[in-house]
Amino acid sequence: MTHPEFLSQPAPFDTPDFDTLLADLSRHAAQVDQNATWPEWQFSRLADEGVLGWVIPNEYGGSEIDSEMLIFGYERLATACLTTTFILTQRNGACQRIAGCGNVELKAELLPNLCTGRLFATVGVSHLTTSRQHLTQPAVQVEMADDMFVLNGQIPWVTGAKPADYVVTGGTCEDGRQVLIALPTDLDGVSMEEPSSLLALDGSLTGSIGLDNVTVDQHYLLAGPVEGVMSHGQGGGTGSVATSSLAVGLAGRSIALLMHESDGRPDLRDIVEPFAAEWSNLRFNLYSAARGEATPDTPHLTSESIRQRANSLALRSTQALLAATKGAGFVSGHPAERGIREAMFFLVWSCPQPIVTAALREFACLVD
Ligand SMILES: Cc1cc2nc3c(=O)[nH]c(=O)nc-3n(C[C@H](O)[C@H](O)[C@H](O)COP(=O)(O)OP(=O)(O)OC[C@H]3O[C@@H](n4cnc5c(N)ncnc54)[C@H](O)[C@@H]3O)c2cc1C
Repeated sequence: MTHPEFLSQPAPFDTPDFDTLLADLSRHAAQVDQNATWPEWQFSRLADEGVLGWVIPNEYGGSEIDSEMLIFGYERLATACLTTTFILTQRNGACQRIAGCGNVELKAELLPNLCTGRLFATVGVSHLTTSRQHLTQPAVQVEMADDMFVLNGQIPWVTGAKPADYVVTGGTCEDGRQVLIALPTDLDGVSMEEPSSLLALDGSLTGSIGLDNVTVDQHYLLAGPVEGVMSHGQGGGTGSVATSSLAVGLAGRSIALLMHESDGRPDLRDIVEPFAAEWSNLRFNLYSAARGEATPDTPHLTSESIRQRANSLALRSTQALLAATKGAGFVSGHPAERGIREAMFFLVWSCPQPIVTAALREFACLVD
C-alpha cells in the first residue's frame, strides 16, 4: 500500500470505506454548522468504520492505533467536518483518561460500551488547565467523606454535555490536591445548562454543568487525590499536537479550495503556492512530533511551536479563501464563511498562555 511520504507507515484506515466516510461527513458538514445539529448520524458512521475504537485498548474491543496514526485520522476527519472531529477529540480524551487509569473494574464496565458507541463520554477539565486560572476559588470544590467525594461548583466547558453518559472531570480539595473522576451525568445534583450559542461549532452542544452537593462513589475515581492531577496519566493534553492536527486539517481544506479557485485564475497561483508549501512543511513537522522525534535541538518540533504555526496558518488560509471568493464567500453557508469562523476556535480551545501570547504578538505585528 502506498502512503504519504510524511508518514512512517500505511494508515490502517486508508481504505475505500474510510474515503466514503469522509465524503459523507463532508457532504453534511455545512448542515451540521448551519443547523447546530448534534452529529448523531455521523457518530454512528464513525462507530461503523471502527473510528470509535482508535483510542480503546484491544482487550476492550478497540484498535489502539499509535499517536502518528491518530493524528493522521484527526487531520483527515477535520478536513471533512470539524464539528464531528472536535467532538470526537473530546470523547477520545475521556476514553484515554479512563483507559489510562488504574481502576480496572471501571475500565471493564465502560470501555467496551464506549468502543461500540453505546455509551458517550466527554471531558470537562479546562478549569484544571486553561480556564479560570486567574481566580482564587477553584471552579469545582471536592470534599472527601469515607468512600465518597462530594462535588460543588461549576464545570465551565463541556462539549456534548447533554448527550453524555459520563463526564471525565475533576475538582480541588481544601488541601489543594485534585481528583479526576468519571462523573455519571444522572447523579442527583448534576444540572446541565443550555448549550451556549457560539461563533462556530454550535453542533458540539458545548455548555457548562452545575454541581450541587453531588455525591460520587470511589468506584468512579480515575486519579488522585494528588496535586496537578491533569499532569498525571495520558490523554492528548492542552495544546498537544492532537489539537494542532485539527487546525492543519482546516488549513488543508481551505488551501484545497483556494487551489480549486486558482484553476481558472492565474493571479491566485502566486498566493496558493506559498500556502501549499507552508502547509506541507508544517505537516511534515507535525508527524515528526507525533512520532516523538523532537529533541532539544528541534525547537520547531515542540507541540507549542506546531500549534502556534497551525493556528496562524488556519487563520490566514481561511481569510485568503474569503478574499479570493469575494462576496460569494461572505454569504452564510459558503465554505469560506464557515472556515473563517472555525479558524477562530483555535484561538480559544485548549490554548495555553504561551500560544495565546504568540497569537497576540502576531496580531500586533511584534515579530520575534
Ligand atoms: C467551543 C468550545 C468547546 C470547549 N469544549 C471543552 C470541553 O469539552 N472540555 C473542556 O475541558 N474544555 C473545553 N473548552 C474550554 C477551552 O479549552 C478553554 O479552556 C476555554 O476556552 C478558556 O476560556 P475561558 O473563558 O474559560 O478562560 P478564562 O481564563 O476563565 O477567561 C474568562 C474571562 O476572564 C478574564 N480573564 C482571563 N484571564 C485573566 C487574568 N489573568 N486576569 C484577569 N482576568 C482574566 C477575561 O475577561 C476572560 O474573558 C471549550 C471551549 C470552547 C470555546
